[in-house]
Amino acid sequence: MTRVAVVGGGIIGLSIAAELLDRGADVTVYDPSPDGADGAWHVAAGMLAPGGESAFEYPHLTRLLEAGHELWPSFVAGLGDVGYDRAGTLSLALTADDVAEAAREWKHQKLTPLTGSQVRDLEPAISPRVRAGAFAAAEHQVDPRKIVAVLRERLTGRIIPRLITDISERDADDVVVIAAGYRTGALTGLPIRPVKGQVLRLRGEPGLLKHVIDGAADGRHVYLVPRADGEVVVGATQEERADRMPTAGGVHDLLRAALDLVPGLAEHELTEVTAGHRPGTPDNAPILGFLDDDRRVAVAAGHFRNGILLAPITARLIADLVLTGTADPILDAFAPGRFR
Ligand SMILES: Cc1cc2nc3c(=O)[nH]c(=O)nc-3n(C[C@H](O)[C@H](O)[C@H](O)COP(=O)(O)OP(=O)(O)OC[C@H]3O[C@@H](n4cnc5c(N)ncnc54)[C@H](O)[C@@H]3O)c2cc1C
Repeated sequence: MTRVAVVGGGIIGLSIAAELLDRGADVTVYDPSPDGADGAWHVAAGMLAPGGESAFEYPHLTRLLEAGHELWPSFVAGLGDVGYDRAGTLSLALTADDVAEAAREWKHQKLTPLTGSQVRDLEPAISPRVRAGAFAAAEHQVDPRKIVAVLRERLTGRIIPRLITDISERDADDVVVIAAGYRTGALTGLPIRPVKGQVLRLRGEPGLLKHVIDGAADGRHVYLVPRADGEVVVGATQEERADRMPTAGGVHDLLRAALDLVPGLAEHELTEVTAGHRPGTPDNAPILGFLDDDRRVAVAAGHFRNGILLAPITARLIADLVLTGTADPILDAFAPGRFR
């Protein structure tokens, strides 16, 4: 039986560990944070948006995002209610300048532009000031906190509350998988940095919004992710900072853009203000593969803005790698060696 240590019990580490367990490995996960709330997954909205802005940058990443997106129905089938919602995403532009900027993205994604009134037919709570929009039927959402809770339950007794500071500590294992989010950088020397994101959670009567909203309001970008229970996740700032402090400016920009697009949110309760760190890499793509030729240490980190979307495909590819020693060709573009 292959003995595997997974360093990091965020969404990536837990997904890999659960897949390995299902496939017969003896898995232990190490994470110092008792409820795992140190991870980026805890603040993440859970948009499953393979056509996002990364699509312009790196064709290999687009292919991985699309392949990852296809795995979601089977991934959630075994998890129970994790808030997987396929209503789709409505992209909005408030001003003429916002429309000009968004039109480029809509064209790239081959989305049909909608007028303001067509947008309000789909989603009546949208402000009458919104000029245009587009509907992305394939962009879904899930609740990352619910997924992590289910995966932790599955791995009961296999999660050890410990900070790993030196990977050679795990010499007794056949393979060590490092999935420590942005902290993978400090453990491995790979160029993974924290990219801070502030996120708000609002709560009100369920049903104000049916779709995920991804909008621009006077140059301020915001997304609104409505959950079935009345929670609305409002995100997110993007800052090259390592602190976790919510700021007045960050919260102001998010709320202003949210209320410009959906005025009815003003009556919602503001229940949470949090900040987390996306694990960023120089090319915005994840780092997936063995660290060295001896094939004892694998890395699965650097998922930046798409770690929720990419969790199922990362789990499958890394479990294959660990159990067979052979890398799927899709991994070639994401090998750690590209930064050496
Ligand atoms: C504001 C924001 C919004 C986001 N929205 C989305 C979204 O809508 N859709 C999407 O797909 N992605 C989104 N993301 C990105 C996504 O959250 C991350 O890419 C994803 O969480 C990365 O998963 P991970 O498991 O690698 O890291 P994390 O989720 O950060 O988890 C890392 C874990 O490793 C543990 N750890 C760290 N160091 C050690 C150590 N030395 N020893 C042991 N354990 C350690 C930590 O305690 C933590 O539990 C968002 C991120 C942010 C910040």
